[in-house]
Amino acid sequence: MKLDPDLIHYLTKEHFRVLTAIEMGMKNHEYVPVPLIESLAALKRSNTYKIIQLLLKHKLVMHYNKSYDGYALTYMGYDYLALKAFMKRGTLTRVGIKIGVGKESDIYLCEGGVKEEDKDEEPVKGERFKNPVVVKFARLGRTSFRTVKNNRDYLKGRSAQSWLYLSRIASLKEFAFMKALYNKNFPTPVPIDSNRHGIVMSFIDAYPMSQIKELENPKKVYAELLEQVIRLAEYGLVHGDFNEFNLLLDEDEKITIIDFPQMTSTNHPQAQFYFERDVKCLQDFFMKRFGLKFEGIPILEQDIEKKEDLDKEIKASGFVKEELGDDLKEFDQIHEHFLNKEEVEDEESESDDEEDIEEESKQEDEEKVPKLINNNTTVDVNEEETKEEIIN
Ligand code: ADP
Ligand code: MG
Repeated sequence: MKLDPDLIHYLTKEHFRVLTAIEMGMKNHEYVPVPLIESLAALKRSNTYKIIQLLLKHKLVMHYNKSYDGYALTYMGYDYLALKAFMKRGTLTRVGIKIGVGKESDIYLCEGGVKEEDKDEEPVKGERFKNPVVVKFARLGRTSFRTVKNNRDYLKGRSAQSWLYLSRIASLKEFAFMKALYNKNFPTPVPIDSNRHGIVMSFIDAYPMSQIKELENPKKVYAELLEQVIRLAEYGLVHGDFNEFNLLLDEDEKITIIDFPQMTSTNHPQAQFYFERDVKCLQDFFMKRFGLKFEGIPILEQDIEKKEDLDKEIKASGFVKEELGDDLKEFDQIHEHFLNKEEVEDEESESDDEEDIEEESKQEDEEKVPKLINNNTTVDVNEEETKEEIIN
């Protein structure tokens, strides 16, 4: 399912009022009953009905009509709420094309905010946008994963809606790490904005290393990559997925590291294992692709001198506290989901995420009647922000 770049401009304030009302109602309803949507959106009944029908047509919401009439957001609806927030803040001006589909993310090339003085300039030849940026949406629950350890029950049996919540946490975590790393001069994209399950970052004009067949100076690139893994450890962090798909190389063989939701602390009980896995991944790739043999894996506790504990600093940061308060449980658990995921054989790899969720909810509908669900399994909403959105 792709976003329609024009829909964001077509949806009116009232459409967003209803979407936001459904988001708020999902705080404690799996499907939000229509009278509650009407009261939260504070619109006339006939208007609300028409709007819901339009949202349904565009698959921004899904419908439940077994024991009562109710609606819930789909990933697509959640996307448009995040896009709207980015546009309001001016960090995004136009929605563009999908340029990447991860197992649990979608990547869009968009136009970022353009400064007043640059408004009349033409895009650079061949470029689609004056200020290309990337929007990454987390889509947890899209694919089935077999978790290596059995103690990850908290991920099992979640409702479709609670995946939205986990996606929000994963995205928040990724943004927090990207910001912290960028501030320490790690080669990451520029972190620009974060809202719900979406991140805006600078577009990197480069290729994933997986697509690169030849390098002018492979030894230098390897040395630089290893240096980054070690530097991360000096800051108390292990990337956890340091593979050729998450390392971008530009024409000058300059590297950019991406993809941070699984990032973990060197204090994690399995940190050495993940650290070794990252280094080994690099060594295997350079062997396989360039026939270069590199050996030797540092031991975290012996060979790396820790300078700072970024993991701790990030958790204590205002940005994370503001969003999550003191409850960092999910924030801490989310990396386990990513670190240990093992894909289950793809039955239908091109499957449509919205339909997956709808399908899942249909199955759930058959099994049980939706009930009031407790807060920590539903979409969590920043109420102040949401209210403001409704009012404005
Ligand atoms: P996932 O978590 O699904 O693996 P990634 O963050 O690794 O998502 O992004 C998936 C792909 O999207 C990358 O391999 C890369 O090709 C592209 N991509 C992601 N971020 C950027 C960016 N800032 N600039 C350019 N391409 C990007
Ligand atoms: Mg990736």
